[in-house]
This record gives sequence, C-alpha cells and structure tokens, in this order.
Amino acid sequence: MKQRNTQQKLAIERAFRISKRPLTASEVHALAVQDLPALGIRTVFRRLSEWVKAGRLVRVDYPGKPPLYEVVAGKHHPHFICRICQKVYDLDMEAVDVPVINPPDGFIIDGQETIFYGSCPQCYQRLS
Ligand SMILES: [Zn+2]
Repeated sequence: MKQRNTQQKLAIERAFRISKRPLTASEVHALAVQDLPALGIRTVFRRLSEWVKAGRLVRVDYPGKPPLYEVVAGKHHPHFICRICQKVYDLDMEAVDVPVINPPDGFIIDGQETIFYGSCPQCYQRLS
C-alpha cells in the first residue's frame, strides 16, 4: 500500500513537472497513466484535493472551465489561455497592477485574476 501511494505521488508530480503549466484533473490523469497505467481518475481527484488542502497546489477556477491545479509558485502571476486548444499557461511576469475600483453597494471583492488570450506556439504553428 505504501509503495503504491508513493508511485501515485511520483506519477502525479511528474505530470506537473513535464507539463510546466496548470492542469485539469483529466490532464493530470492522462499524463500520470503513462507512468502508472492502473491509476484511476478518482485517485487523481483525491490526491489533488489533498494537496490543495496541504498547500502544495492551488486550485484555479475560471467560469465555464474545469478546475485547474497549479503547483504553488512564489508570486501571483497572470495566466494565458489558448483560444484554440484551451490549455492554460503561466506567464512568467509580475502580477498586473489592478486599478482601484469601487464596487457597488453590498459587493465584496475578494479576488482578482488576470487572463490573457491568444494562441499557444503549437496551435500557431499548425495554423500558419
Ligand atoms: Zn493551443
């Protein structure tokens, strides 16, 4: 049991290491089964939520998209979404300055995300 847990952990960690971008649970699963064919999607979901609770991963929710899981990085940074393949990438830049805003009465703002859209290098090459 202990060995199986270790193999699962390593396979999931590898998925994040080789992809170097935020991943959905299905994407993690698709990569991790290359190492560990018996790994089930439910185990992946369970691990990911354990790691979010433990502070190892951050869960990023965008409207209309499945939750993304991202390895905790030092700083808050913008994301990039490819309009063609829908993959999400980290942009290695400082968070964009947010203007001071006055929300309408009764609204409490507790978060902010900056998303840039375009095409990733792979999709751009396929198109041109
Ligand atoms: Zn793309």
